[in-house]
Amino acid sequence: MKSKNSPFKCDFWKDYDVPNKDWYEANKEYYKRRALAYYYANKKDVIKRVVEYNRQNKEKKREWSNRDRARVRRELVALLGGQCFDCKTTIRLEIDHILGGGCADRLARGNNHDMYRYYLKHPEEAKAKLQLLCKKHNLDKEFRNHERYPAKQSAESQNHLS
Ligand SMILES: [Zn+2]
Repeated sequence: MKSKNSPFKCDFWKDYDVPNKDWYEANKEYYKRRALAYYYANKKDVIKRVVEYNRQNKEKKREWSNRDRARVRRELVALLGGQCFDCKTTIRLEIDHILGGGCADRLARGNNHDMYRYYLKHPEEAKAKLQLLCKKHNLDKEFRNHERYPAKQSAESQNHLS
């Protein structure tokens, strides 16, 4: 839905009445292609408008990106089952790399948010590599595997990765 203050001045929407959501879903790819085509044809203009819009709506932009971060994390938590792997609690959950390497992964993907986004788009990989642990069990695991202090990691502790 095009909001009143949207920076996207593309108005092909006005020629296409969207009667219902199902119909939109069925034709989603078409609309996506149209929107992308418009973007590439008017790239400079669109970017200029987006930058200007964001500059004038800093609060809104911040709120939007906070909400988006929360959504991505919430959806990833739901994808991973929504409970601690050890004690099945559903509160204070943290997303944990089963075999460690969370720091390197985060750096490789940019930041936490980009990493969560990536895993949300690759659910099979996410289920294979990630698990949910509550605060307590994540800390337990970190200390057990010396994840916080990799220099101390011994050959023996490698065998105890959970
Ligand atoms: Zn737990």
